[in-house]
Amino acid sequence: MSRLFPRADEVYAGPDEAGFFGPYGGRYVPETVMPALLELTAAFEEAASDPVFQQDLDNLLVDYVGRVTPLYPAHRLAEAVGLGTVFLKREDLCHTGAHKINNCLGQCLLAKRMGKKRIIAETGAGQHGVATATAAALMGLECAVFMGVEDIRRQSLNVYKMRLLGAKVVPVDEGTGTLADAVTAALRHWVERVEDTFYVLGSAVGPHPYPLMVRDFQSVIGLEIIDQLLARGVSRVDAVVACVGGGSNAVGTFYPFVLAPDMFGGPELVGAEAAGLGVDSGQTGASMAKGRPGVMHGFYSYLLQDETGNPLEAYSISAGLDYPGVGPEHAHFRDEGLVRYEPVTDSEAVAAFDLLCKTEGIIPAIESSHALALLPALAEKYGPAGTVVVTLSGRGDKDIDIVREAGLS
Ligand SMILES: *Cc1c(COP(=O)(O)O)cnc(C)c1O
Repeated sequence: MSRLFPRADEVYAGPDEAGFFGPYGGRYVPETVMPALLELTAAFEEAASDPVFQQDLDNLLVDYVGRVTPLYPAHRLAEAVGLGTVFLKREDLCHTGAHKINNCLGQCLLAKRMGKKRIIAETGAGQHGVATATAAALMGLECAVFMGVEDIRRQSLNVYKMRLLGAKVVPVDEGTGTLADAVTAALRHWVERVEDTFYVLGSAVGPHPYPLMVRDFQSVIGLEIIDQLLARGVSRVDAVVACVGGGSNAVGTFYPFVLAPDMFGGPELVGAEAAGLGVDSGQTGASMAKGRPGVMHGFYSYLLQDETGNPLEAYSISAGLDYPGVGPEHAHFRDEGLVRYEPVTDSEAVAAFDLLCKTEGIIPAIESSHALALLPALAEKYGPAGTVVVTLSGRGDKDIDIVREAGLS
């Protein structure tokens, strides 16, 4: 794991100095936020090229998170869907149960390096809040997590976990009291307290340098997959699949493959976005299928929006995927034809959740189940000798009530 920060080369370039991936990304923020972003960009670039920082992070990923996570050949699942081999990248086995901790540890380590004493974060369902509170406790940083009042009501278990971990949960009662309002409140607070405060953002979204930084911290996923495929002597992979909310586990999975397009016969990269009740149902999170480019939370990308450009509320059975936008690098990947994005409905995700439980004894996150739900279509395409890698972004303990309500038994 010595190559945590692969740099773009002639194969694939991006982002530019101002944080643009093609036309997407950038820093669409009030002037008052700009100095903080510039300070952060400089600090990150410096840390990323310092072997000591990389080694410190590497040690935490091994000793604390439990990396390297397994690349598990799921034989019974492969047989059930009609593929030759399905490898599952087991991010569900990370400490705290998902990939989010990879990014939180990276950002908190950077916060310490910058001399910041406290960190803030936003959270919707609470998963990023818990991962951030975990990293803050580990590193002895004061932590405040902004959360909409409606989300606080819906996610009482995660609110309690954050408090157990020593974090303060700050209720946000503006707007609809959900994730988008929490992001806005956190950004506003950051500007007021930027001398001693670091904002830990939870996905590959937001103004530059966040999409770049989150991608680099999550690229450990794809780098490990490549090493593990090589160690197994795998020569050909047909597809690599991950679910896309803001897009952090997906970009971390895909990016190393984008940089090495000829390895393993050049697998196609496929992102699963949340269709909710269907892309045309009006109850969807499919920003690629149904959105158009626009600005939200400081960056330009595909966005679910009404005629006048106001962001629409996203819907998905999965709290981690119901974000109305998508990370700017994914928008660029899509335009460049580097990654294909497919919508997956709630019911398709629930069926895939069920299948993994029954065939492999693994209870996946409902987010990750969206990626698993693409396996039958990939089996049609690649047949019984096909090989597919799926990133299992998290475990499903948190989703038991949701699937019970959906009628699984
Ligand atoms: C938060 C979350 C996601 C979605 O976030 P990305 O940034 O798109 O990766 C996916 N899976 C799990 C388990 C999550 O907790």
